[in-house]
Amino acid sequence: MEYGGPLFINQDKVDLEVLDKIQIEAMHIVTGAKRLTSHDLLKKDTCWPDLSMRRELQELSILHKVIHKQYPPYLLNDLPYMSDGNSRLERRFKFNTPPYNYAFYRDSVIPSMIANWNKLPNDIRTNTSLKTFKYLFKEKFAPPKYPLYNCGSRLPQMSHTRIRLNFSNLNYHLFNHGLSDSPNCENCNVPETPIHYFMECTKYPTNLRNELITKAKAILTGPNRSDRNRIPLNTLLHGKKELPYSENVKLFEIIHSYIRKTGRNP
Ligand SMILES: [Zn+2]
Repeated sequence: MEYGGPLFINQDKVDLEVLDKIQIEAMHIVTGAKRLTSHDLLKKDTCWPDLSMRRELQELSILHKVIHKQYPPYLLNDLPYMSDGNSRLERRFKFNTPPYNYAFYRDSVIPSMIANWNKLPNDIRTNTSLKTFKYLFKEKFAPPKYPLYNCGSRLPQMSHTRIRLNFSNLNYHLFNHGLSDSPNCENCNVPETPIHYFMECTKYPTNLRNELITKAKAILTGPNRSDRNRIPLNTLLHGKKELPYSENVKLFEIIHSYIRKTGRNP
């Protein structure tokens, strides 16, 4: 997906969309999401950076190597240094943008590489270590990783993810996508929403839900602890930010256990 990435910079949008579709396909495979799942939700759930961002980091890494002489010096001859920077650092780490008459040239590899380089925050642009440069770039521009969504075994994790992506086998989601005649739970005749499945549906044994609530509550301590006999949907789907990662993993294991034992395969 990244092979020759910088050369794709001035490619037609339609061509780049072909690559983007492959990335979306990979997201479907990894998460087990259904077709027609919102791409925005998929991107948010996987926390994968866009291909455009990855290409930009590739091109900027090339420029970093040129500046720090990891590439042959003759490459530098075609990259004019800025001569009117305010400080020595600016003069050393910023470039003049080559003059252009056509947008096509402006968007081609070297000019767009220089423009993107000049836009970088100072602390990233002036960092001399390529490893730290990449790290700082990702920290600034890549979506934050959320490894919690990857924990647990495949099947319950997949069901949990589908509910989070608003397109699971629950009737409420199927109906919203035109795949069911009714959004209602076959047992309770009310919409089979995620919260109904986790907290209300009488189809599943009471002890199963009690086990979910009791075990989850033992983990969910703190000022926002719910006193009522239910767990908020947001916590059930995303964990709780205030908790350490290891506690959130335990919470997800409890939820996955509930999903497995209901046999509903949502
Ligand atoms: Zn029900």
